Amino acid sequence: MEIERGECREGAEKINEMSLVIRSRNENEAFARNCVCAFISSLNPKISEMEDVKTAVSEAFTNCVVHGYGVGKDGEIYINVSLFGGLAKIVIRDSGRGIIDIERAIQPFYTSMPNDDRSGLGFTIMETFMTGMRVESNGNGTTVTLYKAFERTENEEC
Ligand code: ATP
Ligand code: MG
Repeated sequence: MEIERGECREGAEKINEMSLVIRSRNENEAFARNCVCAFISSLNPKISEMEDVKTAVSEAFTNCVVHGYGVGKDGEIYINVSLFGGLAKIVIRDSGRGIIDIERAIQPFYTSMPNDDRSGLGFTIMETFMTGMRVESNGNGTTVTLYKAFERTENEEC
């Protein structure tokens, strides 16, 4: 099953790419999000755009840890970032339990862990802060693909 929201498009020419495989641990979340942002910084995003990406990656990563594998259970989280002119594509994948009903999972305030201090807003945040979001899931895990188009600065336009 697969669901797309917003604009999920790639640029014409890929100018750079990186991948990271990291253990599914809460303490790795800050490293993962900072790593993605450091890589994206070569596109010269605004600080607010960088914050948007950080927040969205943090939500996606935390979902892999909490829901995909379950806290305390080790698995691998795979992250890939591709850069195009003015556009970043970020793939975050786990091989955990998967999502049966993606349409329901991305609804604002839906959470399968209401007693665990979850607000059910992770996907809503990803969708709102990014230009596009694709969620794919099956018995082998979940893949979230996030797209962010960066506004061009005046300098870059001339
Ligand atoms: P919050 O993000 O606000 O703490 P939440 O994680 O429950 O709460 P969402 O991030 O919107 O909310 O996710 C909604 C639901 O989708 C989750 O409760 C969970 O059931 C399911 N889900 C999300 N990501 C995954 C994943 N990687 N693997 C399995 N299930 C997931
Ligand atoms: Mg969440």
